Amino acid sequence: MSSTYNQLLDATIQHLEDLKARGIRHLAVTPETLRALAHPVTGRDGPPGRPTEVPIPKSDVPAARPYQKPSSLQRAPQSDPLTEQVSLLSLPGEPVSSQAPPLDPQAKAAAFAALRERALACVKCPHLASSRKTVVFGVGSIDARLMFVGEAPGADEDEQGEPFVGKAGQLLTKIIQATGLQRADVYIGNILKCRPDTPGQSAGNRKPTADEMATCIPYLHEQIDLMRPKVIVALGATAVEGLLGKTIGITKLRGTWKTYRGIPLMPTYHPAYLLRNQALSEKRKVWEDMLAVMEKLEMPISPKQRNYFLKA
Ligand code: URA
Repeated sequence: MSSTYNQLLDATIQHLEDLKARGIRHLAVTPETLRALAHPVTGRDGPPGRPTEVPIPKSDVPAARPYQKPSSLQRAPQSDPLTEQVSLLSLPGEPVSSQAPPLDPQAKAAAFAALRERALACVKCPHLASSRKTVVFGVGSIDARLMFVGEAPGADEDEQGEPFVGKAGQLLTKIIQATGLQRADVYIGNILKCRPDTPGQSAGNRKPTADEMATCIPYLHEQIDLMRPKVIVALGATAVEGLLGKTIGITKLRGTWKTYRGIPLMPTYHPAYLLRNQALSEKRKVWEDMLAVMEKLEMPISPKQRNYFLKA
């Protein structure tokens, strides 16, 4: 089967799974689409007799967006006609807020639980599924206005099944508490839900590969779609790359507001960086990013908080 055909199929299946996870069981289809489906055009590079170039009227593009790989994770050339069709389905950049009306709390909790079940049973990366102890889905309130996204679980997180519980996690907890919030008030997730394996190494972590990120990130997209946080904080370059497809250095990106499908996103340093670099100036940068987040969320900020990590 051609790769373009598989991409279209993957995007369609992903989209239908997204909708199913959100409790949607029926899709409205126009007569135009039904006619097109009844007379499929067999594409050049599709499998014999399989429809590969069914034109989908824009009016039938469902409001909820299926996963689209960030540009840095896309493997197919943009000029490919089927890739173009995938991106027509994907509605890149569509704000989350313009999608279907918010789910009622019960439906949201049920959809989140169903998504969690799917993620916990995931074996899409066989090497990670066989090396992991747990799938680290995410932690916190699904109604949180603030969401933190990190890179991937480390050994402690893999052991405990919860993101950011090791040394870097303890520092993240302190950062959260410095804003006046508790861990339970926010939601914490990662680009990858399994610990990247380190064969032959007894310790240490490694950065997720592009393939691993592309495979896992649909779960995070669905989490965000269901939660609709008001602000996302991307912790480190991998989190930014996973969410926005940007591979520019975090030093350049941090402190500047970006947008993830209509949601303000603040890139900042990963707490592990602050553990490696103890300079007060670096702590202050992260704190300035957090002050900007607090302002965006209209949280109260005391004079003491304003002055954290400033030289006396
Ligand atoms: N680093 C991350 O990026 N995520 C975790 O969950 C732990 C450490």
